Amino acid sequence: MEERSLHPSICPYCSVGCGFYIELEKGRPVGIRYMPEHPVNEGALCPKGNAALEILTHPERLTHPLRKSEKGWEKLSWNEALDTLAEKIREVRGKAGPEALAFLGSAKCSNEENYLLQKIARMLGTNNVDNCARLCHASTITGLGKTLGAGAMTNPLSDLAHSECIFVVGSNFAENHPPVARRVLQAKDRGASLIVADPRLTPSAWLSDLTLRLRPGTDIALINGLMQVILAEGLEDRVFIRKRTVGIEGLEKALKKYTPKTVSRITGVPAGDIIKAARTFAKAETASVVYSMGITQHVSGTDNVTACADLALLCGHLGKKGAGILPLRGQNNVQGACDMGVLAEFFPGYVKTDRAGNQEWLKKAWGLEKLPEKKGLVATEMVDAVFGGSLKFAYIMGRDPVNSTPNASKLKKALDSLDFLVVQDIFLTDSAKHADLVLPAAAWAEKEGSFTSTERRIQWVERTLVSPGDAKPDLEILIELANRLGLDATYKEAGDVLAEIARTVPAYGGLSKERLKEGCGLIWPCPDALHPGTPILHTESFSTPNGLASFVPVEFLEPAEPPDSDYPFLLITGRTGLHYNAGSMSRRSEALLCREPELYVELNPADAEALALEAGTIIVIETRRGRTEAKARLTQRVDRGVLFMPFHFPGTNLLTADALDRESKIPGFKGSACRIWRR
Ligand code: SF4
Repeated sequence: MEERSLHPSICPYCSVGCGFYIELEKGRPVGIRYMPEHPVNEGALCPKGNAALEILTHPERLTHPLRKSEKGWEKLSWNEALDTLAEKIREVRGKAGPEALAFLGSAKCSNEENYLLQKIARMLGTNNVDNCARLCHASTITGLGKTLGAGAMTNPLSDLAHSECIFVVGSNFAENHPPVARRVLQAKDRGASLIVADPRLTPSAWLSDLTLRLRPGTDIALINGLMQVILAEGLEDRVFIRKRTVGIEGLEKALKKYTPKTVSRITGVPAGDIIKAARTFAKAETASVVYSMGITQHVSGTDNVTACADLALLCGHLGKKGAGILPLRGQNNVQGACDMGVLAEFFPGYVKTDRAGNQEWLKKAWGLEKLPEKKGLVATEMVDAVFGGSLKFAYIMGRDPVNSTPNASKLKKALDSLDFLVVQDIFLTDSAKHADLVLPAAAWAEKEGSFTSTERRIQWVERTLVSPGDAKPDLEILIELANRLGLDATYKEAGDVLAEIARTVPAYGGLSKERLKEGCGLIWPCPDALHPGTPILHTESFSTPNGLASFVPVEFLEPAEPPDSDYPFLLITGRTGLHYNAGSMSRRSEALLCREPELYVELNPADAEALALEAGTIIVIETRRGRTEAKARLTQRVDRGVLFMPFHFPGTNLLTADALDRESKIPGFKGSACRIWRR
């Protein structure tokens, strides 16, 4: 019998951070084995986790640096590639200044890789650095930041099993985060009530005790309505409000007009259901609010998140087991990429870049005389900066903006208008096809480093496999580039970078490679080497300067692009259980692709009948930005006048709107007016 060995690892897809073992035989991966002792998933995996090995040995893996030439892609050595890249960075910086450079980090890469990428950007003199949180949960950082003082999940996922009431808004967790559904079902076993607010009748809604099927984009009106009922019936937690919050008077005043009758008219949810939901949430001893991109990806994304925080604060549902706010974030290290300061407005640890004096501590930590003081461009502002001529160079590490950014045609033109584009990835993605230089990166099991899950759990991943061809870990590429640029990166391995992170980011202060390798991770804040981590935030005080949370009233505004006579349907986009994000990995997995092979559009059967469309008809969907084709699926999941398309396939983001939330600059993906016809 062949000798086989098991190697612990973490799923490379979503932010739940499920653990499993990679089974090796003669150094080759032969299977995934479940890890029942893992505290997050207890051995369970969704289809993507089960298929995670497939992409490692995919024949389309990039194996050599590539340069675009008139003859097509030319292979080059690492020395040639990195010399060319360093020379180009020096040239653009010399001619146009550091603000002509932009660096886009990756929510798929490790903390150490993201930390070094933003450090390189800042040492070169620019804060033009961002990650794909800008497209999914930037509004969580702003919304929870200004109410609770920390833009992160307050309680571990396992806590959901201890909630008496779970209010879910804009999240199809049953399909997209199955380990979360396990916890919700455990809570229901104990008698908990599940309330799901969503414009679609998703599998999560089927699990619910009460479904609030609201009109798309009316989340704020609904949540304000719940709070109005709670206040009108005296169900708020006055002791919690008095001791731990400020600003209740402003909220009370703003909510007066959101009566159940008014809110029912705006949202389409029956007034009786609004009252029932409010009472259930407020009367529960412990209740949680769970949300996802259904509320964050809006031009009112920050206000949507703020309303969720106000609701939890009003009932004192924070700072204890089973009571908290749980944003289900996107990719496996989106939390970590933000923690590492891969954000234009924050240095590592969420220190604001443009606040006077904030540069001093980092200058000292990095041994520098100067750091950029101006707030940088966020990813969604970079496109216009390219057209305006101020941005000339972009370095994209491990992301595919062509398939994940709204108004994708405009984005593609911007990429082609750059003086120089370098893309570092494991495949020749649709974005990489626009690059001048492509660098082949190691995939998830081929490198070591730490990853921070949506519940703030930092886990260490070991290098288990060798990369194909000349592909290298992102960290090695960045170290070699930094040294060519004279930035003195003396790290020998990821553990050295983590040691610097621990010195720079207080919440990571107690972490080391050795400590993380011991178990299934630590939950930040973990400020010193003896600290056990902090699963529940805000138990004694909030993360604000005075320790108090703030109520911030928000007003409902009609969605930015409502349907009209020219574009009579409203398009919602979102995730599905079988694919992931831009699809650069999941669309290369036969196991996933055979079950979900193509782009589709969900359409209510009554709308289909009115337009003489059948199930399976290829229809054209057109918005003011572009058009695409998809196969019709007739379903009651969507209401009349509403369409749903997954965003994992090229085409969907040709349609989506690029208007931005004014605070977080997240685009309003959800809610594009459109029209449809048979192809
Ligand atoms: Fe991976 Fe997320 Fe699925 Fe867990 S839920 S197996 S982390 S994709």
